[in-house]
Amino acid sequence: MSDVIIIGYGPAGVSASLYALRSGLDVVLVGKDSGALEKAHMIENYYGLEKPLAGSDLFAVGKAQAARLGAQIVDDEVTDLYFDGKMFVATGLKGEYRGRACIMATGSARKKQPLPKMAELEGHGVSYCAICDAFFYRGKDVAVLGAGEYALHECKELLNVAGSVTLLTNGAEVTAEFPETVKIDKRPLKALLGEGQLAGAVFMDESEIKLDGLFVALGSASAMDLARKAGAAFENGNVVLDRNFMTTVPGLFAAGDCTGGTLQVAVAVGEGAIAGLAAIKYLRETREG
Ligand SMILES: Cc1cc2nc3c(=O)[nH]c(=O)nc-3n(C[C@H](O)[C@H](O)[C@H](O)COP(=O)(O)OP(=O)(O)OC[C@H]3O[C@@H](n4cnc5c(N)ncnc54)[C@H](O)[C@@H]3O)c2cc1C
Repeated sequence: MSDVIIIGYGPAGVSASLYALRSGLDVVLVGKDSGALEKAHMIENYYGLEKPLAGSDLFAVGKAQAARLGAQIVDDEVTDLYFDGKMFVATGLKGEYRGRACIMATGSARKKQPLPKMAELEGHGVSYCAICDAFFYRGKDVAVLGAGEYALHECKELLNVAGSVTLLTNGAEVTAEFPETVKIDKRPLKALLGEGQLAGAVFMDESEIKLDGLFVALGSASAMDLARKAGAAFENGNVVLDRNFMTTVPGLFAAGDCTGGTLQVAVAVGEGAIAGLAAIKYLRETREG
């Protein structure tokens, strides 16, 4: 158990951790890879860089800085997040992480809506959270759109409730081990079907699948996916944040590219600092005894 769980060890997560660690808090910093910085060839427009620095080098420096200040750094992919009444519990592929506050800093999902009508049918058969919505599909035919560990996690939630669960990979290769009870269909998809309510999907080969529900689980869980699971409020598709980057769930924050603002290191670091400081204040104010 730690004071703060930070999901994502890019600029936003590391920046938040520096404040929390220096105030004496126990921090677990969970990340799955080097995020956007891996793709940033050279960073030139960040304060203090005498010479341009490769994104991957900036990432390594940040991670080492958090480790030097005492962060517990874990390489893991988080697939679920909830508040158990006392603690936030982040479930990863390798373990469970508990903390009294949680900062989501998972970077920009950069997930395109791969199919026409997906946005229009959200809440009308298209869902982004199995644990939130599985109940509505008791005994019904549902599919999960995805191919990896996060899609597997969503399938497992649905198998307990739905009549049938199909994995639609939309042409992608499967990268996790799915139970035999999940039917896997790798054919590329063309579109979703249904007017005002999802009715199914049509493949590129023009054949159709009837569906009552489609759960989108592309790539890994984003901050928005995790915020939904933890019960945070959304407005116009965006998670509601106050000026300290706290969601409507007390003690749950989001910072960096995942908040949908300007996608720059300086902004991510700034938001991480604000969220980190606010998490410290939140923990001091809510400390038991
Ligand atoms: C090609 C390219 C060039 C760029 N050039 C510049 C530039 O010149 N200047 C500039 O200022 N910015 C640049 N950027 C943007 C900059 O890289 C980002 O704004 C910055 O990295 C955002 O930091 P972040 O911490 O919010 O997210 P990220 O750096 O993306 O970090 C996200 C972290 O979350 C982790 N994560 C995500 N999901 C999960 C999960 N489910 N479980 C566990 N961990 C998870 C990832 O592994 C990663 O550690 C560039 C970006 C790209 C892609």
